[in-house]
Amino acid sequence: MFFEELERLRQDNLFRQIKDRNALCVMGNESKDPSLISHHSSRILINGIEHINFSSNDYLGLANHPSIIEAAKRAMKKYGFGSGASRLLSGGTELHGELERKIAEFKGAEAALIFNSGYTANISAIPAIAGEGDVIFSDELNHASIIDGCRLSRAKKAIYRHRDVEHLSELIKKENGKRKIVITDTVFSMDGDIAPLKEIFGICLKHDAILYIDDAHGTGVLGNGKGALSHFGIKPGPKIIQMGTFSKALGSYGAFIVADKNVIDWLTNTARGFIYSTALPACAINTSIEALKILQDNSSLMKTLWQNRERLFKGIRDLEFDTINSETPIIPVVIGNTNTTLKFSELLMSHNIYAPAIRPPTVKIPRLRITVTAVHTEDDIDKLLKVLSFAK
Ligand code: PMP
Repeated sequence: MFFEELERLRQDNLFRQIKDRNALCVMGNESKDPSLISHHSSRILINGIEHINFSSNDYLGLANHPSIIEAAKRAMKKYGFGSGASRLLSGGTELHGELERKIAEFKGAEAALIFNSGYTANISAIPAIAGEGDVIFSDELNHASIIDGCRLSRAKKAIYRHRDVEHLSELIKKENGKRKIVITDTVFSMDGDIAPLKEIFGICLKHDAILYIDDAHGTGVLGNGKGALSHFGIKPGPKIIQMGTFSKALGSYGAFIVADKNVIDWLTNTARGFIYSTALPACAINTSIEALKILQDNSSLMKTLWQNRERLFKGIRDLEFDTINSETPIIPVVIGNTNTTLKFSELLMSHNIYAPAIRPPTVKIPRLRITVTAVHTEDDIDKLLKVLSFAK
C-alpha cells in the first residue's frame, strides 16, 4: 500500500524522515549550575554525535533548566504521572487551576483554559467560536493547526494575502456573516515575521470582528515575554482571543487560550479537544508554572535571546542571503531549490550543525529554518556563519 505515492515523494526529495535524538544525560547531570545545564538546549545528539542545534523552539533554553526538571519531579512525586481522565471528569489537579490563573494574569486577560497542545487548541477552539453562517478571515501563511481548525468549523473562509491589511480590509467589507473572526499567527513559524496587529485590530474594531491570535512564537519572545499584544501595546479585551503554547519559549508542554471569562466558559463547554481528551499530567503543568516564574524573574534571558538574534541575523544578511522578512529568532535562509537546500543542510550536519531543510508542502519556498536561542554562544553563532559562507 502507498508504494507509488511514497516513491513519488522520494523522487521529488519530499520524503520526510524522523531524526530522533539521543539523550544528553540532562537528568544525570546533578550540577545545579543553570548555565551548565541550560546549555544542553543548544546541543543535540544525533546518531551519537553532538551537533549545535539551530532547530529548536526552546528559545530561552528552559526545557533543560534545573528548576524545570525539579518542578516536574516534585509534581510527579505528589500526583503520579498519568492524569487518568479528562479535565471535566477527574483529570485536573489544583496545579491546572493555578496555571490557568497565572497565565491569564500574565497575559492581562480575565480567564484561561489549558489545552493539551497548540494543535489541539486551534482545532478545538476555532470550531467552538465559529460555525455555519460565520466568516473567518485567515492569513494565507497561518499555521496548519489554524487551517485545520477553520476547516472543521464549517464557517466560510476568506483567505487574505500574507500580512496584507488592505486585502483583509477589502474582504471584510464584502462579507456579511453572523460573526466575523480574523485569525492570524503573531510570529509566523516558518518566515519569522510579525503580523501587523495594530492595523489588523483596527480593522476588527471597525467591522465588529473578533481577533483570534496564535501567539505560539510570540509568548516568551515578544513584549517582554508577555507576547505580541504587549509588543504592540494592545490591551486584551472582550473582542480578543489569545492562544499560546507552553511548549516553545516556556520549555514545557501544552497550550492555552486566554480571553474574557464568558469565552473561556463557552470553550470549556464546547471545545471538543478539551472536553474529550485526557488532561495533561500534573508534572507538565508544574513545569509551565515554574517556567512562567523564571520568565518573569529573568529579563536577562530575553535580552540575550535578542542579542543572539541580532548577531546571527546581521551575519546572515552580511553574507547577502535572502532571509524573507524575518524579524524574530526564527530566521529562514533561502539557499535554492529543494535539492540544494537538502544538500546544504547535510553539509551543515557534516560540520556538526543541525538546521533542517523545510520543504513543500510545509512552505512554498524551500529554506533552512534556523532558530537561535538565548543559550547559543557567540562561538556557536560564528561557527554557523562560517559554514553558511561556504554556500556563497
Ligand atoms: N501554532 C503555531 C504557530 C506553531 O508553530 C505550532 C507548533 N509548531 C502550533 C500552533 C502547535 O503547537 P504544539 O506544538 O503545542 O501542538
